[in-house]
Amino acid sequence: MFTNAIKNSITNSIKNSIKPIRYIDPIKIRTIRNKGYLMELEKQYDEFLDKNQQILMLLETIYDYLDVRDAIRLQVQRLEIEDKKKELYKNVKKEKIIKYDRTFHLLIEPELRLTEEQIQQGYAPTINEPKEYKCGCASIRYKTQSITKDINLKLYCDIHIGKKKTHDELETRLKGIKRELSQIKRKSNRLDPKKRQSKYPWKNV
Ligand SMILES: [Zn+2]
Repeated sequence: MFTNAIKNSITNSIKNSIKPIRYIDPIKIRTIRNKGYLMELEKQYDEFLDKNQQILMLLETIYDYLDVRDAIRLQVQRLEIEDKKKELYKNVKKEKIIKYDRTFHLLIEPELRLTEEQIQQGYAPTINEPKEYKCGCASIRYKTQSITKDINLKLYCDIHIGKKKTHDELETRLKGIKRELSQIKRKSNRLDPKKRQSKYPWKNV
């Protein structure tokens, strides 16, 4: 008991020797969007940790404060990435036709991407592409100044991808059926009146 009392009294006197800093819940930090405020906070925490490192280690609270400082740093980085992304989109919006470069390539789904050959041909999407639909489907049209044929690529949502598959299968079957029907009129299938009688009697006279 006696040693505990001493320990407590030492702990208290150590605690009193540091100028406290406001503790903020790291989860709460994720919701703060004021970058300037966060950067100021990060500076304060860095200074606080720097100054009181040994005391905080003795009190075993250093990890709590390190967690807060790291959460602030991470949130600042998150906001910086958001800013950079916005800047990127702004540049993209300035031009009427979007340049198809590596950045654009990575911003869209693989189904909507051009092939290497098409990129070389100079295809580019117009500003409001891709078109988006409520179900999740999307489509994109690419144009080029030298070639008149546009490229139209589609991305299907979970519901419509199944329907598209069925459509393609039926289309393949239909092609086969059409081919078979067209073969009726082939010359080799034509009835030769010298070899076989017609079912229409007047033709046999
Ligand atoms: Zn859809």
